[in-house]
Amino acid sequence: MEYQKILTSIQNEISSIDNTGKVASYIPELAKVDAAKLGMHLHCINSGHYHFGDNTEKFSIQSISKVFALTKAMLLLGDDLFERVDVEPSGDPFNSLVQLEYENGIPRNPFINAGALVVCDILVSKLENPKNDLLDFIHKLVNSKNIGINRNVFESEKKHSHRNMSLLNLMKAFGNIKNNIEIVLDLYIHLCSIEMSCEELSKAFMIYANGGKLLYNQEQIVPSRKVKRINAIMQTCGFYDEAGEFSFRVGLPGKSGVGGGIVAVHPGQYAVTVWSPPLNPKGNSELGMYSLEQLTTLTGLSIF
Ligand code: GLN
Repeated sequence: MEYQKILTSIQNEISSIDNTGKVASYIPELAKVDAAKLGMHLHCINSGHYHFGDNTEKFSIQSISKVFALTKAMLLLGDDLFERVDVEPSGDPFNSLVQLEYENGIPRNPFINAGALVVCDILVSKLENPKNDLLDFIHKLVNSKNIGINRNVFESEKKHSHRNMSLLNLMKAFGNIKNNIEIVLDLYIHLCSIEMSCEELSKAFMIYANGGKLLYNQEQIVPSRKVKRINAIMQTCGFYDEAGEFSFRVGLPGKSGVGGGIVAVHPGQYAVTVWSPPLNPKGNSELGMYSLEQLTTLTGLSIF
């Protein structure tokens, strides 16, 4: 497959597109990012790396971190995890409160904020030092220790986390949050403020393309059955109330974040990340969605 040629043609095409998206501003620090940033990096299972633009520049991964948190929780807990968080698409915005009230504090899935907060609660219960353990896990996936958080983004989100606090309070009232809500929120925001580049994210997500094995030494760090399930949840729930649209247009499991990053996985083939900060009204990178749609169109490869 001529991936570099395909990526270059995507780059050429999107440079002339009128981007109608808006950079996230509800976390003020995120609004400071240069809206023109654009990068893409594809890590192929058997033929190296292909990229363009700002693909080595670190950005705020935001909700993409929910995939790492879920993976870690699934390694610590069996199916009991899915008694506290479901695996159904929500059809609602990522920070919505409405379903929680009539579904008794059980979030629809681990990739909406409510579900990720339950996953963080589990990590707080199970791990002595969840922040370090999660970063160590990512360091192992990428084979680099050069990944950490952006303090300014962390502080900024902390000051503007009223909705996430509401989600925590509501779930605590239903008995689905076991720990102190400040501690759970602190871990959640820490994970959202991790910074990685497109290159690093693609490398990390290769475990989901490679059946749970690290590509660089073939060590099995996540059982393949769990990877299959995580990919299924990414496919059905990775884009909030736009999960159907992403499946329809791109056709790959993936996960977005309000920092403008999207990672998608073609199991057995590649992991690919695109970063463009302006978001569409559903909170997903506008050019990111379009680039990935072009990628699966131009490669002609599909998981379906
Ligand atoms: N930190 C963000 C929040 O909780 C993450 C949301 C996202 O990336 N969709 O609102």
